[in-house]
Amino acid sequence: MTKKVLVTGGAGFIGSYLCEKLLDRQNMVICCDNFYTGNKKNLEKILDNKNFKLVNHDVIHPISFEIDEIYNFACPASPIHYQNDPVQTIKTCVNGAINMLDLAKKNNSKIIQASTSEIYGDPEVHPQRESYRGAVSIDGPRACYDEGKRCAETIFWDYRRQHNVDVKVIRIFNTYGPRMQKNDGRVVSNFVVQALTNKDLTVYGDGSQTRSFCFVNDLVEGIFLMMNKEKFPGPVNLGNPIEISMNDLANEIIQLVGSRSKIVYKDLPTDDPKQRCPDISIAQEKLGWQPKFDRIEGLKKTINYFESILKKEI
Ligand code: NAD
Ligand code: UDP
Repeated sequence: MTKKVLVTGGAGFIGSYLCEKLLDRQNMVICCDNFYTGNKKNLEKILDNKNFKLVNHDVIHPISFEIDEIYNFACPASPIHYQNDPVQTIKTCVNGAINMLDLAKKNNSKIIQASTSEIYGDPEVHPQRESYRGAVSIDGPRACYDEGKRCAETIFWDYRRQHNVDVKVIRIFNTYGPRMQKNDGRVVSNFVVQALTNKDLTVYGDGSQTRSFCFVNDLVEGIFLMMNKEKFPGPVNLGNPIEISMNDLANEIIQLVGSRSKIVYKDLPTDDPKQRCPDISIAQEKLGWQPKFDRIEGLKKTINYFESILKKEI
């Protein structure tokens, strides 16, 4: 059955893959984006598809469509971008959630929220399970995003309880892959671009902090399984549970690229989480999902992508 699906943040890194996959599955797709960090280039494969519509709109303002499903992905995800205009980030999280939930309520449609591992803050529990309530700074520079996303989750659960909206919540852990912006500021794109251009890799702090990186194709698979899973609202962690320190990641990327780059150490940003790793047992059990791409495979694809982007610029 053809569905009408709204993807907010559809011109972004993850959102563009969602739009493509939804079109592949014969849906009509409306992508709603204000291009704050999104890029029309991400949509070049689908811009001419007759089932695709691009709407330039900021989700902090209400909008009306007839729609069967909503993927609420609008929000800058990179610390440098979400901290650039923190008030706008909070509005995107909170007003965006309310506007999209009102739309879901009006249309009686399913809605999935792109929540994040950041709702666990700088976690004291490792790995992070969905039942962990988090250790989040309320007033630090990351709070506009972390607390914004926490508040958005709260609003989702309240619309479920109060208005019976069919909500779903996924907590996405660090995801990377082709189509990240060159200037995105997140660690994988920074290190890959630095290595490819033989510039020093900028490790923040002493580089002992860890993250667990999920390749985008795996994530998108998990998102679809979740959207189509009956009677399971979540929250569910989606991420790759293989953990690595930023020092090891930097060395791995230098080696994979065959780069002459060295590592330089820069100040650790305030409230930078020391460790992060998802417990994905709920995703495994409820969705039958687990990541398939190992990091080396994913990094090679990402390196190839940035290599081609950089070549085009010469
Ligand atoms: P991204 O920055 O590439 O994409 C975000 C998209 O949202 C962009 O196209 C941007 O222009 C758009 N946007 C931002 N504010 C908007 C607004 N007010 N109105 C309309 N559009 C707006 O980031 P991404 O990595 O693709 O992340 C997508 C979603 O997934 C975000 O909600 C993010 O919080 C969540 N997430 C991502 C990760 C990750 O590792 N990539 C991890 C956790 C959560
Ligand atoms: N980081 C780094 N060098 C960079 C960019 C990021 O060492 O050029 C570190 C950052 O301090 C954090 C980790 O890499 O510890 C992941 O950062 P990112 O911004 O990708 O994601 P997040 O902090 O939101 O998990």
